This record gives sequence, structure tokens and C-alpha cells, in this order.
Amino acid sequence: MSLSQTLSFSPENELDNLYTLNQISVHSENWKAMLDAIIPVLRSCFIFDNLAVYLVDDEGRQLEAAFARVIGRGRSAGGEISWGEAVSGQVFNQNKAVIQKPDLQNPPAERLEMPYILGVPIQRQGKAIGALTFARFGGPDYTPENSRLASFLADLLSANLAQQTDAELRQQLENERLQAQLQDDFVSSITHELRTPLGFIKGYATTLLRTDMAWDADTQKEFLTIIEKESDRLEELIDNLLDSARLQSGAMPMAFQPVRVDVLIKDAITRSRTNQESLQIKLHIAETLPPVEGDPKRLGQVIDNLINNATKYASNAPLDITILPEEDELHLIFQDKGPGIPQHHLAHLFERFYRAPDQAINIRGTGLGLYICRQIVQQHHGKITVESKVGDGTAFHVFLPYRQKPSHPQPMMDM
Ligand code: ATP
Ligand code: MG
Repeated sequence: MSLSQTLSFSPENELDNLYTLNQISVHSENWKAMLDAIIPVLRSCFIFDNLAVYLVDDEGRQLEAAFARVIGRGRSAGGEISWGEAVSGQVFNQNKAVIQKPDLQNPPAERLEMPYILGVPIQRQGKAIGALTFARFGGPDYTPENSRLASFLADLLSANLAQQTDAELRQQLENERLQAQLQDDFVSSITHELRTPLGFIKGYATTLLRTDMAWDADTQKEFLTIIEKESDRLEELIDNLLDSARLQSGAMPMAFQPVRVDVLIKDAITRSRTNQESLQIKLHIAETLPPVEGDPKRLGQVIDNLINNATKYASNAPLDITILPEEDELHLIFQDKGPGIPQHHLAHLFERFYRAPDQAINIRGTGLGLYICRQIVQQHHGKITVESKVGDGTAFHVFLPYRQKPSHPQPMMDM
């Protein structure tokens, strides 16, 4: 049962009523929820058909409708906001309560054309920041008690608004702080990662070009191999950076088609063996594997990074890759027998630039690989998770649905 259902208004005791309003205000999540909870309670002693809130815009010049409810007889008129508009302007400009009555000398034929409007200012430090208006159709006149209640409600609104603005401001500052921290980490990590291969390339190229030294063919080949390897590393780094930026902004379209994941994995193993012949990878596959709907290039990237991580962080330990066909999805497990990852890092592993420092201290990387993996898997409506135990090894699980769901348009937001 909501608070507004348990509280009621007494026509006799004004102080009790103020206390009730205050109670609702204290327990409401935000000012709009507060008004929605207050309206039914307030109406038990104060008849109105329409309530609207107008707040001044950021430049402090114009009033904008921020909330409106039609409750009683005005419901069919559809003019939720327009009833109080003219009065709200007067209230705001004069910074005082205004009551507007219909011209009873020449009464209009329609009751709905006879609104009695009460407007009170919403103030902050004595200055009007908006107006709260009530409209009722066909009278009776507003009593002084109605006006006092309306003003009290406007004050509660002002306090709630200030609280919300403070909370939003705090959240915004915190987001900016985190963003700045991320940028700092990004710049220092990228600078270091770019400088390292660049340093090697420049160093070995300069050495080879020295005219005062003569290098034999083997040494020249060794230096050129290092230059080639470091250029590859640089290229990979730039590709990862571009991919992560594209994935983050949603600008990487997926080319879905039927994909044989076992074939992708076999190709990835062959690729990684060309770099490291001693690799101990075992592939366990069920006999019949249904294809998944996916982007082969991007899924290949996920598999490459998971194998690459195992070879980097669990080097000289065997890696078991298992493919399990489950009811709606393919379940891939990359289980290594490496050193494992301490528990407190696991929740952060898929964040951009996150590296578990104890593992990564002497191993090159930027902390982009798993972030890219997660983004790609999510774009396939799948899931990637990690399990690890220090001393026992690490297992990454990837779940890929066989079929992609059609995307649905987002519903429109209410005011
Ligand atoms: P990049 O992939 O961008 O070159 P990276 O390998 O450091 O850099 P991720 O692939 O995102 O980045 O991995 C994040 C971190 O997770 C790694 O730095 C490492 O600390 C930890 N990690 C990943 N895989 C393993 C694994 N198999 N065993 C132990 N630690 C791992
Ligand atoms: Mg990696």
C-alpha cells in the first residue's frame, strides 16, 4: 500500500494536513512522484480539476511546463497545460499568488470555459523559479486555506527540486571526475604502449643505418625481424584502439551470416601456432555442431584474443577449448592451467583498459582485448564470463545464441 493510500486529510485540522503533505514529500523519490502521491490526498479537502507546474528555463527567462495532471472535470478538455499558462506568467512576474475567476456577468455556456485558477509562486531564496497552478471548473471560490495549502505545497516542491538538483550536480561532477580519470589512464597507458614499439623500430633502424658500423647478414635479419614484429604490434594496437572506439559509439556494424565456430577456432589455433610453435592447445568438440548467426571476422577477433591471453598470461600451460552445443546457444570454454586471477579483479576484467596488475606487470598489453570481446559478444546478444582461481587457472565462457533476435523499436518516453 502506498503512503498516499494510508494517509488522509482532515477538513478541520490544517496543521495535520501540512504534516501529511510533508510526510509524503519526505518519502517520495522525486518531486514528480511526490506530486502524484499528493494529488489524491489533497483533493479530499481541496477540490481542483487540474494541477500544473511551470519552471523557469536555464537562462532564467521563460517558463516551461514541467508537470501537468488533469483529474476531474477538465479531463475531456485535453488542455492540461494551457489552463494555468496565463496565470503562471503573472505569478512568476509578480512573485506572488494570483487568483483568476471567470467573468460571472457574462457567463459562458460551457462549464469548462469557466475555470477558477489559483497560482502560487515556487521560490528559491525568495526569488520565483516557477509557478504551481490549480484550475477548477465552475467554482466555488478558493478559500484562504486553499491558498495556504497551495503555498506550502509550492515550498515542498522547491525543497524537493533543490535536493534533486544537488543530487544531479553531484552525480554529474562524479561522472566528470571518472571520465577525467579514465582519460588520464588512457593517455598514459596509450603513450607507453605506442612509445615502446616505436622506440624499438627507431632504435634498430638507426643502428642499421649507421655508416660507421658494418652488420653481417644474420644480424641485419635479426634487427629487421624485430622491426617487423614491433610494427605488427603497433598496427594491432591502433586497430584495437579504433575498434574499441567504434564499438563504444555503436559505429561497428555486424555482418551476420551462418558461421561454423569450430572452423573459426581451428583457424585461430593455426594462426597462433605460427607465432608460438610449442603451444599446447586441445580442442574438444561435439560431433554435430549447429552454425551460429554471427559476424565471422568479429567472432574470430574474440577467439584470437582469448587464445592470445592464455598464451600471454598462462604461458607454458595447456589450454583446453571446449565447444558445447546447448539448447539455444553455443557454449565455448577457454580453460587454461595458468596462475589464475585474484578474485577482486574479476568484476573489472571486461572494462576498457583494465589490467590485473599482478599478472600484467611484465607482459605487454593495453587492457582493450577483453573489452572488445565483451562488446562484440553483446552485439551478438550473447554473454562472456570469467571464472578463475589463483593457482588453478582461468576459464572464459562465451555463449553465442544460434539465432539473432530482430531488434525492436524503443518505446517513447512519457513526460
Ligand atoms: P590487450 O589484449 O589489449 O593487448 P591485455 O591482454 O592486457 O591487453 P585484456 O585482454 O583485456 O587486456 O585482459 C585484461 C587483463 O586480464 C590482462 O591484463 C590480464 O591481467 C588478465 N587476463 C586476461 N586473460 C587472462 C588469463 N588467461 N590468465 C590470467 N590473467 C588474464
Ligand atoms: Mg588481451
